[in-house]
Amino acid sequence: MSLALIRGRGVAGLVAARRLARAGWSVVLAGPPHHSDRIVTLDPSVVDLLALELGREVLAAVAPAPIAVRELAWSPGPPETVPGELVAVPLRSLTAAMEERLPPGITVVETPPERSFDEVLDATGRGRSARLRSGARTAWGWTVPLSGPVGRAVLEAHLEGWVFVAPAGAQVSVQVVLPGDGGHELARELARRTLAGRGWSATLERLAAAPPVACDATPAFGDPIAPCGAILVGDAACAEDPLSGSGVGRAVRGAVLGAAVATAAPGDRTAVRRHYLTRLALAHAAHLAGAADFYARSRCAAAFAPAVAAMRDHARHLRREVAAPAILQLDASHRDARLVPRPVRVAASS
Ligand SMILES: Cc1cc2nc3c(=O)[nH]c(=O)nc-3n(C[C@H](O)[C@H](O)[C@H](O)COP(=O)(O)OP(=O)(O)OC[C@H]3O[C@@H](n4cnc5c(N)ncnc54)[C@H](O)[C@@H]3O)c2cc1C
Repeated sequence: MSLALIRGRGVAGLVAARRLARAGWSVVLAGPPHHSDRIVTLDPSVVDLLALELGREVLAAVAPAPIAVRELAWSPGPPETVPGELVAVPLRSLTAAMEERLPPGITVVETPPERSFDEVLDATGRGRSARLRSGARTAWGWTVPLSGPVGRAVLEAHLEGWVFVAPAGAQVSVQVVLPGDGGHELARELARRTLAGRGWSATLERLAAAPPVACDATPAFGDPIAPCGAILVGDAACAEDPLSGSGVGRAVRGAVLGAAVATAAPGDRTAVRRHYLTRLALAHAAHLAGAADFYARSRCAAAFAPAVAAMRDHARHLRREVAAPAILQLDASHRDARLVPRPVRVAASS
């Protein structure tokens, strides 16, 4: 029986583990329990994808909260109110529900055993081995008890950065994205401007008492096949700008594809690995081009101008490199090493 190591217990690692186990592999899923406090919004296509991939019972266990109305105060001009069509779920509830319902054949451990594996998948999250980082953004986030409108989400651009508010169940998540490593005092001030006057003043008080959690929100792309032969999936391969709100969907699709790469028949491996590189690069290029246009139309266009330029430049670069035979600038000495899989030895300390 083939043996795989998957590092990372987020959505991508869990989906890849399920896929490999269902294909008859023995899987070691390694890493600390997933602990993000983030509430993520999912559009109907991602909800369908999750239901197909995980079964309705996983979604039922998470009890997604509908977002009935979204207020978009993004471009200059009056805010727009649109029907929600989204649901909001705490990321940690989603990964916990997935982990409770793993199929047989998967061993979950914190530290990987020291031994050889037929394949290693890296699902360790955002941009760890990223080669292309398109500008720099920091997300400051709070998840606090909800007191205020239920089922109403707000996306608001200010001159200095943008704010997203998403309630789910008894909690609300407030995320502020600033260019560079923008400070938490500014994040707090932008959150205040968005929450005040929209019925969230009690939430604002809770927020004032809680320190925000900072995370990197820069779109990033790494070679999806690492030099050691490991297959990168989810945000580890390709992390999107959070304003797209499509990271979970992308993580699921990438993990499905990454698992298919791992299980490809020996004769097909090189072609399948090339396809994986190409798909991810083209999808990321399309994402960057779309996100750049969206930022450029926003009230915060000037603050994010360097990021917009970097996204456009990298979108062109990825398309050019993918169209060329030497995919993603792999140099001749590395190309075959990356495309030809081989057993990977894992040291306990790595
Ligand atoms: C501010 C912000 C807002 C977002 N909002 C949305 C949204 O509304 N909708 C949406 O769909 N997406 C959203 N996203 C994106 C979404 O959260 C991610 O795309 C998705 O969670 C990626 O899943 P993943 O499994 O690839 O990575 P992660 O969720 O990052 O999981 C990686 C896991 O690997 C673990 N790990 C790290 N290092 C190691 C190691 N060395 N060994 C083992 N394990 C390790 C981590 O602890 C973690 O558990 C947002 C992202 C940000 C930054």
